[in-house]
Amino acid sequence: MHTPEGCLFCRAVRGELGVSRLYEDEAVLGFEDIRPQAPLHMLFIPKRHVASTDALTEADSALAGRLLWAAANFARQRGYAEDGYRLVVNCNAHGGQTVFHLHVHLLAGRPLGWPPG
Ligand code: AMP
Ligand code: ZN
Repeated sequence: MHTPEGCLFCRAVRGELGVSRLYEDEAVLGFEDIRPQAPLHMLFIPKRHVASTDALTEADSALAGRLLWAAANFARQRGYAEDGYRLVVNCNAHGGQTVFHLHVHLLAGRPLGWPPG
């Protein structure tokens, strides 16, 4: 499950998982979350397997920045930037991570509470 072979989101990258691909570039895939928590709830993932933010190295800096940019640019193009939105990255058990392939949640379309649970 933690290897690229068995990884759920690596399967999405390979086209083996029926996800709604709304954004794609050479390094990043963006698709709809299967259990949306807001009117717009997408996940932006690197096409290359990275397990979590804890697995990032300095050499991944550009990739990490591209993930953020891709999500923010998508939100702006869809008209969510002015009202605002939230980008979330959960890491490991206390962070609430359930899929161990790095992903940025984009939540938009309603006011979001703070602090998180
Ligand atoms: P996290 O808890 O941060 O690891 O988030 C994992 C997210 O992946 C959750 O919001 C799930 O709803 C979502 N998810 C799980 N399986 C799928 C799937 N097959 N397609 C799309 N999203 C999924
Ligand atoms: Zn993966």
